[in-house]
Parts: sequence; C-alpha cells; structure tokens
Amino acid sequence: MRRSIGLGMVTIVGVFATMTTYEARQARASLTVYEIADNLYMLANASSVQGMGGGGNTAIFVTDDGVALVDTKIKGYGQDILAEVRKITDKPVTTIINTHTHWDHTGSNTEFPDTVDFVVHENTRGHMASQDCDDGAGFEGGSIKNCDAFTGANAKYLPGTTYSDTLTLFSGADQIDLYHFGRGHTDGDTFVVFRAARAMHTGDMFQRLGLPFIDVPNSNGSATEFGETLKKAIAGISNVDTVIPGHNPTPVTWDDFVNFSGFYNDVVMKTQQGKAAGRSVDEIVASYTVPSQYSDFSAPENRLRSTVQYVFDGQ
Ligand SMILES: [Zn+2]
Repeated sequence: MRRSIGLGMVTIVGVFATMTTYEARQARASLTVYEIADNLYMLANASSVQGMGGGGNTAIFVTDDGVALVDTKIKGYGQDILAEVRKITDKPVTTIINTHTHWDHTGSNTEFPDTVDFVVHENTRGHMASQDCDDGAGFEGGSIKNCDAFTGANAKYLPGTTYSDTLTLFSGADQIDLYHFGRGHTDGDTFVVFRAARAMHTGDMFQRLGLPFIDVPNSNGSATEFGETLKKAIAGISNVDTVIPGHNPTPVTWDDFVNFSGFYNDVVMKTQQGKAAGRSVDEIVASYTVPSQYSDFSAPENRLRSTVQYVFDGQ
C-alpha cells in the first residue's frame, strides 16, 4: 500500500501537496537543528522520537553559490529539510551528497530538483542503479538499498558525480572533502569533511554511541573490515573537531569517533581471539562486557550477537 503511494508521488515531483495522504498515515518526526558553524547545521530527529523517526541525520552547508546537503532522510522529508534550509538562507539547494545508498539517507533525493548535483561513492551509485532491490526488508521505500526509487522517470536522479577514493568539492571556505576507506556499513560509505568548520559527517560508519547495524546481505557491508576502515579514517582524516553521526540525536566529537573505533575493534578482537581459542558465538557473546574506557557506548545483545556472528564467519 505504501509502495503504491510512493509511486504516485514520483509523478508529481516537487508538489508537496501530495504529501497529505502520506502524512495522514505516518506520524512525522520533528527535527532539531544544531548549528555546527555559521554555515553548517545538523538536522537531527528530536531525541524523543523512538526508532528510525525521519531517518539519518542531514547536514546543511551554505556555500557562496548554493546549499549542499548531506543525506535526505526517508521518503517524504524533502519539504521538512527545505523548510529548515529556508530559515537559514534563500540560496537554492545545488548539491546533495549521500553517504550511502540506504532508504533512510537517500529517501527524499527525488523531492529536490533534478538539476541538483548528486554526489556518491561509485559503489553507492551502483546500488542506486541496480534493479536488484527485492531484498525483502519491507522498509517504507520498499528496499533498504532504495534503488527502486531511481528507476523509470526517476533514473534522472541517479548521481551524476561519483568518485573512488577521495574527491574535493568547492574551494576556500566552501571546501568539502569526501573520503572512502573501504567496506564497512556498506561497500560505498563516504566520510564528508567540511574543512573550514573542522567538522565531519560520518554517515552510518558511526551511527551512534553503540554497536552499528551492518548491511552485509544487501549492500556488501563487512563487519570484519568495518574496524579496519575506521582505523584508516582516523589515520587519513585530520583537523576535525565536531562529528555529525549517522543517527545520534546530537553532534559528538572527534574523540568520540576515535573511541568508537576502539570500542568496535575490541569486539572484533575478542571475537577473533575467542574463535581461535575454540569458543562458540554464544560463549563469546556471553563473556563480553563493554570495556570501562568505553562505558558511554552500548552493546545491546541482539546487535552484539549479529556483529560477533559476522566476524566469526569472516563476513
Ligand atoms: Zn545505513
């Protein structure tokens, strides 16, 4: 049912009056704005909203020539994002960077003008262009990868700008550096660094102060390589103070990001050591405790079990 509403919407792109039906069916998450710098904002779900709410955190970055966004939440939030942009500036949205393919980070891409320069890692464009969207996840957009949002008439929204390892957009105070360091949450994750603001959007390579969801089955993520990718990001990115995580309700710090890597890699190490010692997944999970230096990170048992199982299996 929801899928048919979504398909109806895409024929009237940009006319938000069509959202009424959708709104009636789903309580909207309210959004909270954090000013990171005088031209950079984090658009988060209100912390009172449980679960996914409106999707991942969006960054709003005002350049000389227009507005660059990082991630567009779930389908139907284009109007909310644009309303927040309009409180900040009259400049048009000219660039949208997606940190990865997932429905809760690319969901409202098609609610912006198709003249926007959409920018993603090359593997993420592959997922968005793929016709293999039947992952059975049953999410609002029909597919966690959200590639079915970019078929037919909406193929014009497939990103026109891609990169492999690094890409720099704009210059001077507007400079944005994009980095891909390998597999993790998916195989196409981008770290977005706002140079002058000394700030970074991590996408879902750092979701919150806890163990991450990792999309091994649908987007070629890797729990085993996730930790190495975090270490490469820490070694390869410098001069960042403030971090916009994928889903945390507030901004955090570079030190929190470094601690997340330590916390995550400790789970990987304990799993590999446990396996080498002949212990089962159940035994490794049962014996795990969060190290005291990472006490502000959470490891819910279901998330811990899936992470340990993936690493145990070499995935
Ligand atoms: Zn994701």
